[in-house]
Amino acid sequence: MEEKTSNKIMKIMEFDDAVYYRANCGCGSEDHDLALELEYDSELNDISLNMYKKLIYCSEFGINPSDKLYALKSIYYRIKGALTLLLTGVVEVEESFLFTSSEQINHFIIALQEGIEKLNTKNVKNDKKSK
Ligand SMILES: [Zn+2]
Repeated sequence: MEEKTSNKIMKIMEFDDAVYYRANCGCGSEDHDLALELEYDSELNDISLNMYKKLIYCSEFGINPSDKLYALKSIYYRIKGALTLLLTGVVEVEESFLFTSSEQINHFIIALQEGIEKLNTKNVKNDKKSK
């Protein structure tokens, strides 16, 4: 029940106390998508936003493809990453999410504002029930 709310921002699901979106990265790769969970927290009586993103460790990242030592460097970074994970338990990764236009940024903002308005309505209903 995927519903398109705006340019590259989709409302995926909607419940009384939560709204889920998926935002597409401007580069076009589905691996870079951002999942957003806008949720009413009854304990805090406020709205929280969780963002989820797949992160990938890539041993080829940052190596120029025309580098003569490309394959060797890739293997070196792969072993280095594996050893870092093995010895420390942590590998640091970083990924970007790209907005390609002010229109896409505005649609992202509008989608979140609509979600907040919907959940604030829930918030008001709860306030009335508790009184
Ligand atoms: Zn991307």
